[in-house]
Amino acid sequence: MSERLEESEALDAHTVAHAWSAYDRVKGGADGLNAFLAIDRDASPMVAEGPLHGVPVAVKDNLATLTLPTTCGSRMLEGYVSPFEATAVRRLREAGAVLIGKTNMDEFAMGSSSENSAYGPVRNPLDHSRVPGGSSGGSAAAVAAGIVRIALGSETGGSVRQPAAFCGIVGVKPTYGRVSRYGLVAYASSLDNVGVFGRCVRDAALGLEVIAGPDRFDATCADVPVPPLVPARNGQSRHMPLTGLVIGKPREYFPENLDPRIAVHCERALARLVELGAEVRDVSLPSTDLAVPVYYIIAPAEASSNLARYDGVRYGLRAEAADLGTMYEQTRSRGFGTEVTRRILLGTYVLSAGYYDAYYKRAQAVRALIADEFTRVFATGVHLLFTPTAPSPAFRIGEVSDPYEMYLSDIYTVTANLAGIPAMSQPIGRVDGMPIGGQFMAPHFEEAIMLRAAAALEGALGAEAHQ
Ligand code: GLN
Repeated sequence: MSERLEESEALDAHTVAHAWSAYDRVKGGADGLNAFLAIDRDASPMVAEGPLHGVPVAVKDNLATLTLPTTCGSRMLEGYVSPFEATAVRRLREAGAVLIGKTNMDEFAMGSSSENSAYGPVRNPLDHSRVPGGSSGGSAAAVAAGIVRIALGSETGGSVRQPAAFCGIVGVKPTYGRVSRYGLVAYASSLDNVGVFGRCVRDAALGLEVIAGPDRFDATCADVPVPPLVPARNGQSRHMPLTGLVIGKPREYFPENLDPRIAVHCERALARLVELGAEVRDVSLPSTDLAVPVYYIIAPAEASSNLARYDGVRYGLRAEAADLGTMYEQTRSRGFGTEVTRRILLGTYVLSAGYYDAYYKRAQAVRALIADEFTRVFATGVHLLFTPTAPSPAFRIGEVSDPYEMYLSDIYTVTANLAGIPAMSQPIGRVDGMPIGGQFMAPHFEEAIMLRAAAALEGALGAEAHQ
């Protein structure tokens, strides 16, 4: 199932028909993957030419679209249609892509398994009893099942990289500010990014190249030009294409208790990188173990503020009640699921008088420390870092019920969001038949070098990436 589509296919409008037949084969509904929350059977390319002409794409349901609802996987926004379109979505369509649907997700992007959707869990296309990862699980499943060639997701703490790892595909989280967040429904604004899924590195790179770049509708979108991001085809004429590249191996991402089967795959990938000419160097990022606690203070704090807007007055659901206070209360109790409610309570708590300094302020200080450690390592001449993407392969639906245990699946991914640096996951092997992801991280705005190394590794691993 993971053989790569050839370039000619990408540029062929027939791929849209292929998308529908693949969709019908795996069905969007409960008997299939449940990867889609809305589909557009009549979608067609907006322009006649473009780098993505005729390429079927799907976007996560927290990206605003004009013709399809944007529910964020929540009852709160059931049937809600946005009056404007996300910049990333518009750029895909302007490049000729065909938006065939909106993908299922953890409610408001809070989760690591796509089980927190109000519309039922998404299934992993490689094993329907397992989760596809989250929160962008629908997008990852749609690409892995061969329905769409490219899909957009969002990343606040790993929601593109971890599902990419669980589904055996490529997922890229760009530098904070590389892609406009205009039209991305806010979860934790200082951490949120739009990310891209593809079946191979070049597909993901092409998708990113199309959506990246300055946007006057998002003040946090950097005014930095986008270099060419799509790496040259594999089998370059040069013998050792990564000569001169220094790859750091941070010891904190390879702890004693790392699943040895995952460690073996990482070592094989590192060996391939050395064969490609790269130098691998042991490095240290000492504050890594603080990243999950820090993330689960900052993200809920920002979420509690961002989600205050769902009050029954301006958007979506409204529960009728005799007085205003009861209306707010009823709307929010009915509209939000358990995990979103937990995050709002947690976030409100860490921001409240008396606890603000102890939690929120300290978390901000540690976040700065984590970012600083990356800067320091990169300043020693290290170009990229390589780590596992997640501590386990895809688990079974219903298997992880303890929220804290679920939060720990983000242990290797939240750091890049806290530091704002680009990072990506690609398949590097399998454990018990399920895919394992390897992660590259790069300095701010160095996506091109990261994608080049990833493409070289993909070529060098070949079929091993899925074994
Ligand atoms: N799993 C993390 C969370 O629940 C990350 C989610 C994300 O990146 N959107 O917050």
